[in-house]
Amino acid sequence: MKVLLVEDDAAIASSLRIGLEASGFTVQHVTTGEQAVGTHDCDIVLLDIGLPDFDGFEVCRRIRAKSDVPIIMLTARNEEIDRIFGLEIGADDYVTKPFGLRELIARIRAVTRRRTVSQSEENHQHHR
Ligand code: CA
Repeated sequence: MKVLLVEDDAAIASSLRIGLEASGFTVQHVTTGEQAVGTHDCDIVLLDIGLPDFDGFEVCRRIRAKSDVPIIMLTARNEEIDRIFGLEIGADDYVTKPFGLRELIARIRAVTRRRTVSQSEENHQHHR
């Protein structure tokens, strides 16, 4: 499974990359919203909110405008309003920093499983 990691903090990004790769994921790391929106072939997006060009909410909106790839927001903020807002603009889930690798992987598996199930149900309806 290919993970697009959108995170401008080098320390967080490198520890996440190491952990995810050790768990069998392929990681593509980008550091700006612009790069994130320009990247197309991934199975899930891990999206930081505080990015140098535009924020993660805007990235989420722009990705959602053209793709239904699963998106998990990585947020340093714990305000409920941010979480609700993230979900309203199309994120599938969120984790609040600091989070553990095992929690993150459990959420990745949950959202990709949900997505796979609903896609195969759709295919079923469309092709029968
Ligand atoms: Ca950041």
